[in-house]
Amino acid sequence: MKSSSKHQKNPRPRNEKQSDTKLTVGQQMTLTIKSLGINGEGIGYFKRKIVFVEKALPGEVVHAEVTEVKEKFAVAKLVRVVEKSPARIEPPCPLYEECGGCSLQHMDYQAQLASKQELVIESLRKYARLENPPVAPTIGMENPWGYRNKAQFQVGRQNGKLVAGLYQTGSHQLVDLETCQVQHEATTAIVRTAKAVLEELGIPPYEERKRTGVIRTVVARVAFATGETQLTLVTATPEIPRVKELILELRTRLPELVSIVQNVNPKKTSVVFGDTTRELWGRPSIAEKLGELSFDLSARAFFQLNPEQTQKLYNEVKKIAGLTGSELLLDLYCGTGTIALWLAPYAREVRGIELIPEAVEDARKNAERNQAANAQFHVGRAEVLMPKWARQGIKPDVVVVDPPRTGLDDALIRSLLEVTPKKIVYVSCNPSTLAKDIAKLMARYELVQVQPVDMFPHTAHVECVILMERRG
Ligand code: SAH
Repeated sequence: MKSSSKHQKNPRPRNEKQSDTKLTVGQQMTLTIKSLGINGEGIGYFKRKIVFVEKALPGEVVHAEVTEVKEKFAVAKLVRVVEKSPARIEPPCPLYEECGGCSLQHMDYQAQLASKQELVIESLRKYARLENPPVAPTIGMENPWGYRNKAQFQVGRQNGKLVAGLYQTGSHQLVDLETCQVQHEATTAIVRTAKAVLEELGIPPYEERKRTGVIRTVVARVAFATGETQLTLVTATPEIPRVKELILELRTRLPELVSIVQNVNPKKTSVVFGDTTRELWGRPSIAEKLGELSFDLSARAFFQLNPEQTQKLYNEVKKIAGLTGSELLLDLYCGTGTIALWLAPYAREVRGIELIPEAVEDARKNAERNQAANAQFHVGRAEVLMPKWARQGIKPDVVVVDPPRTGLDDALIRSLLEVTPKKIVYVSCNPSTLAKDIAKLMARYELVQVQPVDMFPHTAHVECVILMERRG
């Protein structure tokens, strides 16, 4: 996320004079910030060169020091704000500077929402050559705090103390997160207690360099609708010393836990989960609801991180899809099938396609649990299965796509242009790839509507739902 190669390049202002001035690391400068980049940094120009300044806001004049110079851009750190934006606020989190988990806490929430809308507009101008794209105001949260249902914190030892948190941006230093304001309080309370119990019982954290110790990661998850909570301990070893005492202490101090699970990951990897999961105490999963739908979340099952906004997102998908009850709808990149199941009551038939077999198994179980008799889920590549079905005469009326950040595969775009469903509903977490894909789909489709939804307040993430309709 923070890699500078991913910096968005904005169009350069035309009225500045050409200059050969080279920027050097350490150089100080005064800049006017024009817009926000995709990682939440301020974007300014110095002698026509684009400069990214972390924590600077649009409209501000800032004093900055160059830290990195590349051919097409430079990165500078904020030294002083000379003229302050009215949107600048004091970040409420005391760990804001160290942590880096949120990159926009220094910006008023309403301004964050407006800047996310602006970012989507800019992407569509740049990559889809749309002068006035139909982008609605971002749908935000009434209370944009405590929204995350899962805390997944690395465990380590610092100055002799057991800590759990996130790595500081661009470093291997853990920031001990005793609290976190974007997390649901239940999740951080579980982490705090787990940390204390592990310390008291002398159960050591895993140390990557030495490859010694036990506990790698603690994962605390809460179901918003039912209040049920789960703790997963990811360990490097299959054995946990003093495990009986550990379970007893956790149960006594956290009576709200319904599930304690161990996952074993002995590998030298930054991937969190290993292949083996076993129950230490209680149930293997927790029960969650999203609107009318119920889900059973096992330790590794994927679930959206912000349930409140997920419902708004899915309702936008429903609204935009405009179903009448007679349609065949495909949910491509369906994960555990939540979008297909959300829409199943309003369509004739829904079919999901997903690459990961375990996710498809979950989707099938979810369909059964929710008695969605008109939903089926298939393992495979969307770009392979959809055209195959089309050749067999199975042609969708509406196609929903929700791809990873890289956007749609070229083969999928080609097959959408051949199969030509009446409507394409695109759910995207990356405005740049979204805009590039829209540009290609415009060969047969018209962009009708773009709705940004704020899934991760105080971070630079932007999620969008868009509607494209077939021409003719
Ligand atoms: N729609 C889901 C989330 C989807 S995330 C929800 O709302 O919960 C994107 C998913 O696309 C991932 O589960 C990933 O495994 C899957 N995926 C990636 N490439 C794919 C491909 N070529 N065909 C089908 N699924 C793919």
